[in-house]
Amino acid sequence: NEPIHIIGGGLAGSEAAWQAAEAGAKVILHEMRGIKRTDAHETDAFAELVCSNSFRSDDHEQNAVGLLHEEMRRCNSLIMRAADQHKLPAGGALAVDRHGFSGAVTEAISNHPNITVIREEVAGWPLGDWKHVIIATGPLTSPALAEAVLEKTGEDSLAFFDAIAPIVHYDSIDHDIAWKQSRYDKAGPGGTGADYLNLPMDKDQYFAFVEALKTAPLHEFKDWEKVPYFDGCLPIEVMAERGVETLRHGPMKPVGLTNPRNPTVKPYAIVQLRQDNALGTLWNMVGFQTKMRYGIQAEIFRMIPGLANAQFARLGGLHRNTFINSPKVLAPDLKLKADPRIRFAGQVTGVEGYVESAAVGLITGRMTAAEALGGSLETPPVTTALGALIGHITGGHIEAESYSGARSFQPMNVNFGLFPEVTITKPEGVTRWRGPEKTIAKRRAITGRALEDLKAWA
Ligand code: FAD
Repeated sequence: NEPIHIIGGGLAGSEAAWQAAEAGAKVILHEMRGIKRTDAHETDAFAELVCSNSFRSDDHEQNAVGLLHEEMRRCNSLIMRAADQHKLPAGGALAVDRHGFSGAVTEAISNHPNITVIREEVAGWPLGDWKHVIIATGPLTSPALAEAVLEKTGEDSLAFFDAIAPIVHYDSIDHDIAWKQSRYDKAGPGGTGADYLNLPMDKDQYFAFVEALKTAPLHEFKDWEKVPYFDGCLPIEVMAERGVETLRHGPMKPVGLTNPRNPTVKPYAIVQLRQDNALGTLWNMVGFQTKMRYGIQAEIFRMIPGLANAQFARLGGLHRNTFINSPKVLAPDLKLKADPRIRFAGQVTGVEGYVESAAVGLITGRMTAAEALGGSLETPPVTTALGALIGHITGGHIEAESYSGARSFQPMNVNFGLFPEVTITKPEGVTRWRGPEKTIAKRRAITGRALEDLKAWA
């Protein structure tokens, strides 16, 4: 029974340690807080919540993160147990008393007979004679370890911030307005020549849009959160500030594209969306990274023709965040291709959020424990929320090479766009079946299927 070394006692590392220890494996948990701080954590407790105290919706029938909560509860999750023990009134959301919550996790980890805690920074590649390793060092991975990961995986495999363009659910786009075409019909590697969705704007619409960008309130950053701007990656509101025509000569340029519904009129500007997951359910707005506040983003983007009813799988952002290019460097079982003793877990794999990070900890903890104890364990079924997250990490996303050189892998919360489609049929006796009712039925079908399919794995 070779011990499992887990680096990082955050949301993911704590859950991974718990799952592995409960399975009967020996765990050594290396956590640097107590010796060395991060820029965001304030305590030495395990699973500290660095910002909000919300685990978001707890509705497991109609919400993807609610479903993830429920799946984790059914898998004996320590994070969910502590959250349920310390929950606060918050309507349909699961909010927690942050000190009670992390105190409960710390106590459970510290008292588990199979877990040894070492307070230290792992400051280089975890080599030595370690046989099973989980790196769960989060968005603020210490620079020395980040450097070692960079060396091991290559220059383009580790990001230090995410410049995220908003991502839209395909079925919320108005396809009577959008058309599919690549600029100059170029197919490119793996492309068809019709790989983008295009949304046309006339002059008035464009000017109103630029004006809205210039006056939108921005997210306030702390000093250490500040992200350097690169010319290829400027926030759209910064481009709008530079001049009213700047966006039209940048990501919104109207060249090489013809609107088949109105071929003789040239649009003044065009917004392009690019497929963002293999299922084709999610599309990102090309070049639309932004630091605008969340509330106002949705309002402004719905000014774009074709997006009036857009539902966003995630909004745009520009944050400090260390994460690996998982689809490229991890195998389907979450092992690092360059050193298969090592798995990654948590936010560093390219999931986003407390619950999602803990969920990847849960999966890697179980899988690594199975191996340390001489067996093996598959990843969860793709139809579950746990499996959908793994799909996002290891390959659900289109890889960079096949899409015009753009790096499309970006951190993501769990959402229904990551699940395989379900077929639903109109209930008997119902004559009019409208959008919202259909959406509710579809979500119920996805979540019901997930909990059924999880049983064997759990
Ligand atoms: P963490 O919880 O950060 O845990 C990583 C652990 O690894 C830390 O304890 C750290 O001390 C340790 N560590 C790092 N390097 C080393 C090393 N070399 N050796 C040993 N130990 C090491 N998510 C939300 O859902 N809601 C929010 O409101 C929210 N706000 C955020 C605000 C900020 C400023 C940041 C940075 C992130 C925020 N997030 C939020 C994302 C949040 O960080 C993750 O959701 C979650 O904490 C990630 O869990 P994790 O286990 O991957 O990383």
